Amino acid sequence: MGEEETRGTGGADLRGIPRVDRVLANPSLTQAKQRLGVAVLTRLVRRALDEARDAVRGGAPCPSVEEVALRVSAHAERTLGTRARRVINATGVVLHTNLGRAPLGARVAEALARSAAGYTSIEIDLATGRRGRRGAFAEDALCELSGAEASLVVNNNAAAVLLMLGALAAGRSVVVSRGELVEIGGGFRVPEVMARSGARLVEVGTTNKTRIADYARALDAAPDAAAILRVHQGNFRQVGFVERPEHRALAALARERKVLLLEDLGGGAIVDLESLGLSGEPSVRSSVEAGSDVVCFSTDKVLGGPQGGAIVGRADLVAACRKDPLARALRLGRLPLVALEATLAAYLEGDLDVIPTMAALRAPLSAVRARAERIQGELAREGVTSSVVELGGAVGGGACAEEPLPSFGVALEAAGGELATIAERLRVGEPPVLPRVQEGRILFDVRTLLDGEDAPLTAAIISAVKG
Ligand SMILES: *Cc1c(COP(=O)(O)O)cnc(C)c1O
Repeated sequence: MGEEETRGTGGADLRGIPRVDRVLANPSLTQAKQRLGVAVLTRLVRRALDEARDAVRGGAPCPSVEEVALRVSAHAERTLGTRARRVINATGVVLHTNLGRAPLGARVAEALARSAAGYTSIEIDLATGRRGRRGAFAEDALCELSGAEASLVVNNNAAAVLLMLGALAAGRSVVVSRGELVEIGGGFRVPEVMARSGARLVEVGTTNKTRIADYARALDAAPDAAAILRVHQGNFRQVGFVERPEHRALAALARERKVLLLEDLGGGAIVDLESLGLSGEPSVRSSVEAGSDVVCFSTDKVLGGPQGGAIVGRADLVAACRKDPLARALRLGRLPLVALEATLAAYLEGDLDVIPTMAALRAPLSAVRARAERIQGELAREGVTSSVVELGGAVGGGACAEEPLPSFGVALEAAGGELATIAERLRVGEPPVLPRVQEGRILFDVRTLLDGEDAPLTAAIISAVKG
């Protein structure tokens, strides 16, 4: 660092190119230095100076120290903007794919922090000192909560489905209704995952109607069939002229034909969501009871845990999945496993409201409304005009599609250009706030606010409105 550039000029005068240390010392980089650190910032400065040299060789004038520093500062902002940050979700979508699906809450965060800071007894039995089974507590808890004989946890549900099909049906036919050949988003398409697993897809029925007789005929024509796969239609809804066999009838057919009934259940509800007025998201227990031999689901959808996938069902079949070489490649990481165990412990203890997803889905509408009224009152005291409005949120995460989640929120009205400015200030503030911008209003749905977020949200709105 330090030498003014004089060599290799190719004719252009590079002597005016600022020195690295002078750019670093410029006041416009003070904040970036604190947030990114000197080493990272130095790399950005060197890169900016290289670009400046190229530009000067191309005939551009030499930039000043100030100009280079401003360019680096803008670049640093963009770099920081790509880093995952804690945000306030005021969209009303409880399981927001772009916001990491289920938030984990304070209880799980404490367990995570304790474990992350040190070593963890993840594969040791502390009572005997001998090697223990990774994930044993989570798997036993899932059995207890679902009524299944055995379970296995993996990296996500896509991994669970891949492993289940690969271990139990590779090289053989698997029968799937054409109405269930779904795409979940993010590249998960049932036919493609099936092809990768080595199982052969046999399509039956039609997009809107598949009858039990369609499955029976397909099994007649495919003597090598290993299984019927039933896939949850979570992220879309078919209405009108539609038909799908009863789960129990399909299980009976599978038993009669001596093939397995495998299920991709999607969400993995532990509690009955029907009792909360949310239909179309059957619980894991109800799937096991209806006769699925193996059920796969995500642990970060309606279950409300960290990213993960679970395979639950008949002990011999889960054992075959566990023995498959892919199981090691797809295993759940240490920190998500710790988070999953803490989440499942809360279910076992009946402490549903410490699971933020459950708290958001269970919150009575009257309490949601009262929360919106408190925020509106607080804003009014600070001179910010808003109104309390009735809203329809969503469960999200491919669950309860099209079924609005009744909610309340606070609405800000503003002119078009001003609206965009306020929304941007909210996004780039600290903490960033993500509301819904709709029909000339900014809507803050309070159902998806976590404990302790009311005050920071209110402060963020006030500062975004006042500029
Ligand atoms: C969400 C979903 C998946 C993918 O689960 P991930 O945990 O995101 O990998 C697969 N199948 C169904 C039916 C789903 O809803």
